[in-house]
Amino acid sequence: MTRIDRKLEQKANSILVKNDMLTVPVDLITIANNHDIEVYHDRLPKGISGSIKYNGEKFQIVIDETESLVKQRFTLAHELAHYFLEGDKLLRNQEVHFDRHDKNSGEEDIDYLAGALLMDRDMVTKLYQVCPSVTKLAKTFNVSHSAMTMRLIRLGLM
Ligand SMILES: [Zn+2]
Repeated sequence: MTRIDRKLEQKANSILVKNDMLTVPVDLITIANNHDIEVYHDRLPKGISGSIKYNGEKFQIVIDETESLVKQRFTLAHELAHYFLEGDKLLRNQEVHFDRHDKNSGEEDIDYLAGALLMDRDMVTKLYQVCPSVTKLAKTFNVSHSAMTMRLIRLGLM
């Protein structure tokens, strides 16, 4: 695990602790509400999975409702990660940040934090020891099979 990864793990864990959200599956809408962020599910332009912007008053996240539920959930975690890592920047420029299906490059940290918010390191590690099934874990955490696989690899469990 790199130094940046460790920092992101700590960041995710402190967000979960502060929001009293060390639960499985994590309730991202409550975390958004706690931070006064509005979340909408809507149809977005083709190729766009989600967006976040500060409208002068509030942060607003929009998730493409046509995608699978686990993908929508990951997109919400990704947009929240933008808020937690780059909220100041979004607040200053007040531009809409769009996330495409094929991923914006240079957002590895954002995706890392998103994964860590959805799949807390300690809880994944504990549950994987009890039941080393990616399919079951993905279901428990309400994430896609590929997101769970990636997380297990990142944590050195697989
Ligand atoms: Zn993004």
